[in-house]
Amino acid sequence: MPRSYLQEARRRVGPKKERIRPVIERLAVEHADAAIALRFRSPLELLVSVMLSAQTTDVNVNRVTPALFEKYRRPEDYLEVPQEELERDILPTGFYRQKTKSLRGAMRMLLEDFDGEVPRRLEELIRLPGVARKTANVVSSELGETQGIVVDTHVRRLSQRLGFTRQKDPVKIERDLVRLVPRPDWARLPHLLIWHGRRVCDARRPRCEDCVLHDLCPSSRV
Ligand code: SF4
Repeated sequence: MPRSYLQEARRRVGPKKERIRPVIERLAVEHADAAIALRFRSPLELLVSVMLSAQTTDVNVNRVTPALFEKYRRPEDYLEVPQEELERDILPTGFYRQKTKSLRGAMRMLLEDFDGEVPRRLEELIRLPGVARKTANVVSSELGETQGIVVDTHVRRLSQRLGFTRQKDPVKIERDLVRLVPRPDWARLPHLLIWHGRRVCDARRPRCEDCVLHDLCPSSRV
């Protein structure tokens, strides 16, 4: 989009501080069912699911985890089988060698440093091998200890299109969002943006004509 057009669009929709609340409220009505799509029954299953979801879809992870979680119930279980066996068990999620290494490293640290329990604090979660900031943010948020805002590909794209950030780097985008978004909404905003991204604001073909945010969005094509 030409710069002058973008500036004009930003003026038309008004400052982001005034738009953030109506954006969240409208998305909450539109996507009342927005929640994490991964299926898990415990903090350990949550951690493993989120680690497996790197570079693949949640649907794909959900296909693998029912059998996986029947077989691997405790952190020890991931360490007691030969590495190749765990690789085979998570193979359909892709990058299975790296993921196996990360899972086993994380399980070892859970046992050595956290009494076998999944920590809830961000600074502890990011110490686990293979757990980057996004994974840690998802886990701590789902466990009720939200300390940041999850930035995945949808959150990144929508935050940019909605004019909430001009950054490209996820850490800088998160920094912009935590300044803008009221703290009680830190956990639910990513779910709302992810679901809106999947259903309406597609990466290639955003359906602006059907979007409840079109009058609040500087990138609207309507
Ligand atoms: S108006 Fe268009 S670009 Fe803006 S959020 Fe909606 S679908 Fe995305």
